[in-house]
Amino acid sequence: MIFFIVMSINLLGDGVRDALDPRLKSGALTRPQPATKIDPTFNAAKEESNPDAVLSVNALETQFRIAKRVYRAVNQVSFDIAPGECLGLIGESGSGKSVTALSVMGLVASPPGVISGGDIRFKGDSLIGASYETLRKLRGNDVAYIFQDPLATLHPLFRVGEQMMEAILVHEKVPPADAHARAVSLLEAVHIPNAPERMNAFPHELSGGMRQRVAIAMALVNNPSLIIADEPTTALDVTVQGQILALLDELRRTRNVSVLFITHDFGVVAQLCDRVAVMYAGKIVETGKTAEVLDAPAHPYTKKLIACVPELGRGKGDLEAIPGLPPVVDKLPPGCAFAARCSKAKAACETGDVACHQHAGRMVLCHFPEEKRV
Ligand code: ADP
Ligand code: MG
Repeated sequence: MIFFIVMSINLLGDGVRDALDPRLKSGALTRPQPATKIDPTFNAAKEESNPDAVLSVNALETQFRIAKRVYRAVNQVSFDIAPGECLGLIGESGSGKSVTALSVMGLVASPPGVISGGDIRFKGDSLIGASYETLRKLRGNDVAYIFQDPLATLHPLFRVGEQMMEAILVHEKVPPADAHARAVSLLEAVHIPNAPERMNAFPHELSGGMRQRVAIAMALVNNPSLIIADEPTTALDVTVQGQILALLDELRRTRNVSVLFITHDFGVVAQLCDRVAVMYAGKIVETGKTAEVLDAPAHPYTKKLIACVPELGRGKGDLEAIPGLPPVVDKLPPGCAFAARCSKAKAACETGDVACHQHAGRMVLCHFPEEKRV
């Protein structure tokens, strides 16, 4: 009887929770689908994608739909990455960088994420509406991700060698001995000392920098053409960050891999990227060659971001900060999203859409771009 009563009260409690818990109602705790949902009333991209690019993202829109709210996390984002090129995607926290990166392989959790417009082409083939099988074959194979936290990427209960071999064997039918040899040679390529021994280490036995090297080696196991690195050095100290950046640069030059490098640090972009795209409130506000953008930023936001980077030997002057906070993406203001924080904003900035246009050899989304310094 006691058993029966306890079980019934538990079941009743679970039922009441399922009916009343607001988190369950919003769908936030439901199991995500294997690929991001595509909205049936899809806005197709108006312009043609660049056929020569490894990855071509064209007017991409990704939203989070929670109850009646729509968060426009990625709003009309377009960029191309050429073979062997490194594109830096930079912006404040919450600007939509990670959602852009995850959208590429349909990894945004749905619900609540929905891709509601645009096109994503990988080597010319559209990934919008591609079958789960197609995406699964590309994930970790031709397109690899490196995330910020290697402890979250690596399984805590398996040895790093086993995890790397599994990544190979899932995509290719090779004898386990060959997979083992390839994993060891990659650990050597990312400069892990004593690689054959390290194959038997558990993730917690390695230091943060070593773990991130393992994560990079794991991204390389199937010779990807594109690596998407989402703030891979943010959790590391500056010396290790320097080593990891040098390693990524060496690997992309020797293996001709394209890289989409996400960061919030202009110093990192300057060290690694050929081109840079600056993102704000879900839109790319400026794209151009790294050296040119650093030398003469055209968008007031880019200029402020660069002014925020501390410089050794600049003396005691105050470091600039951008006043205010980025807008919440479910209530975007009309006009330019940066207008409220911009010192140059005029009445025209607060109404109507700002069109992306060519200015001083690059694309910029601003009515009053900065003039080039003479
Ligand atoms: P970051 O540029 O820092 O990588 P993100 O791409 O992670 O930013 O987030 C972009 C925006 O999308 C943020 O405003 C965030 O609030 C929103 N967002 C991200 N994930 C979710 C989610 N699961 N549900 C609702 N909103 C989300
Ligand atoms: Mg992020």
